[in-house]
Amino acid sequence: MSAEVIDGLGAAQRLKQQVSEEIELLGAGRCRLATVMVGADYSAAAYERRLRRVATELGAGYQNHVLPASCELADVLTIIGGLNADPRVSGILILRPLPPHISEELLFPALTPAKDIEAVHPVNAGLLALGTPRFLPSTPASVFYLLDCWLDQTGESLTPFYRRSTIVVVGRSNNVGKPAMSIGYTRGAVVVSCDEWASRTGRLAEVTRTADVLIVAAGVTGLINAKHVSPGAVVLDVGINPVADLVTGRVHLVGDVDFESVATVARAISPVPGGVGPVTDVWLIRNTVTAARLAAGD
Ligand code: NAD
Repeated sequence: MSAEVIDGLGAAQRLKQQVSEEIELLGAGRCRLATVMVGADYSAAAYERRLRRVATELGAGYQNHVLPASCELADVLTIIGGLNADPRVSGILILRPLPPHISEELLFPALTPAKDIEAVHPVNAGLLALGTPRFLPSTPASVFYLLDCWLDQTGESLTPFYRRSTIVVVGRSNNVGKPAMSIGYTRGAVVVSCDEWASRTGRLAEVTRTADVLIVAAGVTGLINAKHVSPGAVVLDVGINPVADLVTGRVHLVGDVDFESVATVARAISPVPGGVGPVTDVWLIRNTVTAARLAAGD
């Protein structure tokens, strides 16, 4: 192995320190996150527990609203309406995945944009695409925060690095891939996006090998190996895939990148777990602080 391992836990720790200071400055009871969970999806429930823990640790208020998977869209809209109107709530997160009959397209526009800390409301998604974001969605923002932290440690200047880099984003979801592209554009990088069709048509490696920075968010275990990465590239693995141990049956999490193989060619690589994930949770609280400040007219 030759690649440096990008330390997500250390970056998350530094961000935590900064966010807890900001919450203290805001004053008691001024920053509160509300999450809404429909059904009992395993990954949504795990995320909810992590957010509760981080919010409490950083001194932010927290509340979770759980609805049964059998509920109607109108029931969720009623909860959202109440949270929109509640002055104690600074930011609202709708946990995904939602049951198939609860349409994101109908639900997300019901959020008050000023409390939409994941930027899923069309107005916030549009502002991000225009390069004037109100909130940066937590996962893609964490990818770039992690990259910035690593570049700082290596002594590399951020602006010239991004301006001469080609960033390839694998995966084109509304919550990760597309906003990652928008953030890449605002930094002056050449940004290339591909999705499952690049794989199906046999072009994935041809595209990913053009990357100086490769961001992988496909949700496919081991999708990227050494043959997909050009020597010296920086690889950020967003994927979180549960895999059961064949002998013990115990579930552990792996990324989309075959770490051992890619580490032989990449300049640096973020691991799973311990890479992007830990930063994401803290970033969401950071966005809640931003929402609280906006509400205060700051
Ligand atoms: P998604 O299913 O909404 O989107 C996946 C995207 O990847 C789609 O654009 C799809 O076309 C593309 N894709 C699928 N198979 C592909 C293939 N073989 N080759 C190339 N592209 C392919 O998923 P998402 O919500 O964007 O999440 C992606 C991954 O990131 C998942 O593993 C998810 O668990 C993880 N995730 C991690 C965090 C974090 O905090 N680290 C946060 C959100 C999501």
